[in-house]
Amino acid sequence: MSMVEKNFKAEINRRRRLESTYPGLMDVFVQLVGSIPPSHSKQEEFPMAAAIVEIKEGKLEIFTDGLNEVNKRGQPGAHAEAVAIEREAAKKRDKHLTGMYLVTTVEPCLGCVGDAINAGLKGVFFGLSQKDIKGKHVYSGEKNATYKTYRDFRGYNGKQLLNANGVGIVEGGLYRDMILQKLTRTYPRLADMGDIDELILNDPDVGVR
Ligand SMILES: [Zn+2]
Repeated sequence: MSMVEKNFKAEINRRRRLESTYPGLMDVFVQLVGSIPPSHSKQEEFPMAAAIVEIKEGKLEIFTDGLNEVNKRGQPGAHAEAVAIEREAAKKRDKHLTGMYLVTTVEPCLGCVGDAINAGLKGVFFGLSQKDIKGKHVYSGEKNATYKTYRDFRGYNGKQLLNANGVGIVEGGLYRDMILQKLTRTYPRLADMGDIDELILNDPDVGVR
């Protein structure tokens, strides 16, 4: 069996395992990917989505979702994860989201990792890694600005930071194929992320982070 086939098989097994522990996880990702509007590309919001979920009657249920609102609000940290956390806390009238999970299409940045820790979230599930998107995030300072990148995205590890600060359950690299397809086909500006099929199949880090 080739390395590519091995990686693919490992990924499928991991999805099955996670889906049996967290039923509905795939559905949540499908809903998140579908919720990102094409207008986000035009408005220069980085196209991503996040949700606060909880296990209800044996299945993950979305309580609150969020999209990037960096340019809409003119607020550098108004990332999808931060927006979802803020909304859920406001709805619950409780800044502690104990027992809840964050699901997000991209590995949370340093700021959103901080928000997840401060909210006392139980776990985080993310799709693409910062490495996958080459550390891209929107630069809100200028109109029509290009996407900026984290300078050290290769060394960035959100999972490690979350785990080290009490967020026990962190699974990354989930449903990368689905998310990459949406991003590269709906937002051609992100096409320089590279060959999508190669990214999906040949990344040795699939399932690691
Ligand atoms: Zn962020």
